[in-house]
Amino acid sequence: MTAQGKLVVISGPSGAGKTSVCKALKQQAGVEFSVSATTRAMRPGEIAGVDYHFLAYSDFEARAKRGEFLEWASYNGNLYGTPRWPMDAAIARGRTFLLEIEVKGTKQLREQRVPGLYLFIAPPNLAALRERLERRGANTPADIAARVRIAEEEIVAAGSDQALYDHILVNEDLAATIRRVEELIRS
Ligand code: 5GP
Repeated sequence: MTAQGKLVVISGPSGAGKTSVCKALKQQAGVEFSVSATTRAMRPGEIAGVDYHFLAYSDFEARAKRGEFLEWASYNGNLYGTPRWPMDAAIARGRTFLLEIEVKGTKQLREQRVPGLYLFIAPPNLAALRERLERRGANTPADIAARVRIAEEEIVAAGSDQALYDHILVNEDLAATIRRVEELIRS
């Protein structure tokens, strides 16, 4: 029988560097990742079915009602959710399964007592976060302002609820953060 795999939840504000961390982890053998569903518009360069399953709002709501998502949450006016079945299949096959989700979704997983390693990647400060979002060039100024506001709330939520994340990692240096996450997954 294959050993049970491990769920790794990676959370943190938009622009903190969690997608870069996840991209590095995805290169490794034995690691699979969740493709979330979302109602937000596709960004240039994104691929449907790879970056996200892009759904109409009504389709997302119908699927949520049918219980197709392990967790789902509203973020900045759009819905985002984790399809339930790929995770169960990957863990049964002994894989490390990565979820990149925001804080409200993480809370739902904790409430359901889903076992896993829960990590929060924080930016060194909000100015650095804003800078990264601006440099990325994928968001409008209004969207960036909203994401920075949400980031403040997420950082407070992650820091004030000890039961939510196992580790909070401040992403000063991407390579060092990736190494730290790899160590935590191995341990
Ligand atoms: P973005 O629009 O930048 O791709 O994602 C916005 C936020 O939604 C990010 O914090 C991202 O991690 C989060 N997110 C992506 N997929 C999911 C999901 O399936 N569930 C939840 N709760 N959040 C998600």
